Amino acid sequence: MKKISIIGAGTSGLAAGIRLQSQGFQCEIYEKNEAVGGRMYQIKEQGFTFDVGPTIVLMPKMYQELFEMSGVKSEDYIQMQLLEPMNTIHYPDSMALQISSNLPQFISQLESFSEKETAGYLAYLADVYDRYVRAKNVFLDISYRKPSEFYNFKTFHQLAKLRTLNNAYQSISSFVKEDKLRKALSFQTLYVGVSPFSGPSIYTIIPMIELLFGVWYIKGGMYQMAKAMERRFLELGGKIHLNRTVSEIVIEKGIAKGIKVSEQLIPSDIVLSNADFPWAMKNLIKERKNKGKYSDQKIDRMKYSSSAFIMYFGLSKKYQTTVHQIHFAKDFKKNIDQLFEGVIPEDPSYYLYSPTQIDLDLAPDGCEVLYVLVPVPSLHQTKLVWNNDAIQNLRRQILGRIKYIKGFEDIESHIIYEKIFTPETFRDLFNLQFGATFGLQPSFFQSLYFRPQATMKQVKNLYFVGSSNHPGAGVPIVLMSAKIVANEIMRDHV
Ligand SMILES: Cc1cc2nc3c(=O)[nH]c(=O)nc-3n(C[C@H](O)[C@H](O)[C@H](O)COP(=O)(O)OP(=O)(O)OC[C@H]3O[C@@H](n4cnc5c(N)ncnc54)[C@H](O)[C@@H]3O)c2cc1C
Repeated sequence: MKKISIIGAGTSGLAAGIRLQSQGFQCEIYEKNEAVGGRMYQIKEQGFTFDVGPTIVLMPKMYQELFEMSGVKSEDYIQMQLLEPMNTIHYPDSMALQISSNLPQFISQLESFSEKETAGYLAYLADVYDRYVRAKNVFLDISYRKPSEFYNFKTFHQLAKLRTLNNAYQSISSFVKEDKLRKALSFQTLYVGVSPFSGPSIYTIIPMIELLFGVWYIKGGMYQMAKAMERRFLELGGKIHLNRTVSEIVIEKGIAKGIKVSEQLIPSDIVLSNADFPWAMKNLIKERKNKGKYSDQKIDRMKYSSSAFIMYFGLSKKYQTTVHQIHFAKDFKKNIDQLFEGVIPEDPSYYLYSPTQIDLDLAPDGCEVLYVLVPVPSLHQTKLVWNNDAIQNLRRQILGRIKYIKGFEDIESHIIYEKIFTPETFRDLFNLQFGATFGLQPSFFQSLYFRPQATMKQVKNLYFVGSSNHPGAGVPIVLMSAKIVANEIMRDHV
């Protein structure tokens, strides 16, 4: 039985572990933190339970498939429910748009703009669905080992049909004219840390995924997915070592031989790294010749996704709201430009998540959980320092804005628990290069074939999985990355 050492118990490390353990490999996961999950982490304090990172469940089939393929029923591990409405979008002029997963209901909202806009929206859905199917079947589900697997007529033909060079906002603008709708249908590129004004439009599939497949909620919060994966992995005979930091991937003559934990060599037939790819390249692979094209200079020059400033509030009062809410800045374009120019936006957009609207177990009686996320720049190429002044300024500014939401005027006097995460927290807790919460930015030249792959030509028996690898960030997408890497390992070793 071949032994695989997996570095990191993030979503994709656990998912790959389940797939490989089911196929007869012996997997052991070494995780630096005291609990599994990686960015899919949890804070449990004073009776409040917070999801730390991901909150929006898209593409539920990807979650379910992992359990089904390992021979069990997914509903015995995670209970999912469709959210209605999926989210509420608040504009600076106080208008609110509820995005419903119920088509007739959403159409009646759209008709309040105009029938022409409604027709444009439906045409947009058809266009983007076609692109989603193409992307999924031709690009997302495969691994690129040789240039010829990308540089060929079929790929370029499909790429042309995908119109990947447009940005999300442009792509939507050819279907709907109303600026409010354009924003509502393009801001979701921020879910993967990329600007809707410059990201390749393949990311317009994200709102489409929301609109056609719904936004779901996992009972107990997103962290239940991490716990469920941990449980399944252990049931299959896998082993997890917590609080164990890997300091090196040991490579001899171009072959991975194992990992080093506390100066001790752990011999392995296969090493699979779930640590963020640019961080792992810089820190775990010691010799230049084993890094291939990813020299330290190249890693520093690459583009990174945005990061997040998050306030986790435990409130001593119930508030009436929806589970997910987006609040747009007055000047959304300027907000996004500043975000990617490395400065804290003067007037940021922000996102609220309140799972206790539908899941009372996450807070004491009569209390509420509120997660407030402000997209901020990563620590790449910026002089930003997250000292106490910077943290308190942003806290004050955003709380000042929340207090203007009807019903939330008294929020400040009801905060009985709070914790704040900055890009520096994300960098240090999960070893994310430059604290970029979504890893390498999925710009055109860092997507598909150009993104780091599951395998490396220079080193045999070494594999990679996670957000900074192909196909990219987001829970369902890293679950795809886990499927790809498991297939690659089986291709080489079975
Ligand atoms: C704030 C935030 C909000 C998000 N919102 C959403 C959302 O709503 N929906 C969605 O689908 N996605 C969302 N995402 C993205 C999603 O969380 C990630 O894409 C996904 O969880 C990444 O999983 P991963 O396996 O690639 O990496 P990680 O979760 O980063 O796992 C890597 C693991 O490796 C460990 N590790 C690193 N170095 C070492 C070492 N040297 N030794 C041992 N262990 C090590 C880390 O501690 C970590 O546990 C969000 C992310 C963040 C941060």
